[in-house]
Amino acid sequence: VKTSGKNNYQYYSSEMNQKNKRKMLLESALRNALNHNELSIYYQPKINIHTKELTGVEALLRWNSTEHGTVSPTEFIPIAEESGLIIPIGEWVLKTACKQNKLWQDSGYVPINMSINLSARQFQQNNLIPVIKETLEETQLDSKYLNLEITETMAMININQSVTKLKQLKELGVSLSLDDFGTGYSSLNYLKKFPLDVLKIDKSFIHDIISDEQSTAIVKAIISVSKSLNLTVIAEGVETIEQLEILKSEKCDLAQGYYYSPPIPAYELEKMLTFTEEL
Ligand code: C2E
Ligand code: CA
Ligand code: CA
Ligand code: CA
Repeated sequence: VKTSGKNNYQYYSSEMNQKNKRKMLLESALRNALNHNELSIYYQPKINIHTKELTGVEALLRWNSTEHGTVSPTEFIPIAEESGLIIPIGEWVLKTACKQNKLWQDSGYVPINMSINLSARQFQQNNLIPVIKETLEETQLDSKYLNLEITETMAMININQSVTKLKQLKELGVSLSLDDFGTGYSSLNYLKKFPLDVLKIDKSFIHDIISDEQSTAIVKAIISVSKSLNLTVIAEGVETIEQLEILKSEKCDLAQGYYYSPPIPAYELEKMLTFTEEL
């Protein structure tokens, strides 16, 4: 005899099974994604709001799986993270993006910054510093053009260890951004312990900046904190001119988002670069 409780349970458990099944299938496909050339990197411009100059790009991983089609990073990055696949994949992203930036410079374009997302697992690896160092040596990219994005949550797991690591990264000459700022739980007190260069305002605040006074207040506060700590501040997820105008009047430095451009392949990004001679 079926009770409704049992039905609920069966429904719930089959949904769980399907999710787990997809996760397992994705993980096994992801294991071969590098060898099968299914991964690529898109680049999204970071624009100086006041001068309109393109100052850098963020490298964003894309996966086009032969079996599963396009899979969003929000779905596969956590799987890569849990399975440890993020280590080889993350190293591939680092190397490919640094190589691309060096290639642009060698082609005569005005140098820009390359921002690369580090995952929590990568950040905790003992060999992070040598990996970054070797990548820079191998690709011949000047470290001042490499920017690493870490999240608040990652940095807060072990604060003392993070401070040491971040200082070592700074010694290599790379710059550091704190990503998704405002969504985590770091206090301003810790913020000043980290040797950061850039604060990235999370896109959830930018999304609500027009409709929600609280989000506007948070954005203003983050900009003002950035200024007082001498950090560059960038807004992510800027989609409209209205959002941009507020950010401009609040003296936010940089912006990134669909308003300017979605993440695009290297050959398309190239069209937005300036030749050194054009200066
Ligand atoms: P994130 O680092 O916060 O990256 C910003 C996300 O916002 C990207 O999503 C980007 O495509 C999206 N975005 C950019 N402009 C707009 C906009 O105007 N509106 C909206 N709604 N979204 C915008 P994406 O590419 O799907 O990446 C999602 C997340 O996956 C990233 O969030 C990052 O945490 C992770 N990720 C992506 N590539 C890598 C990677 O190479 N390594 C690691 N560890 N994580 C990565
Ligand atoms: Ca990021
Ligand atoms: Ca972000
Ligand atoms: Ca995010």
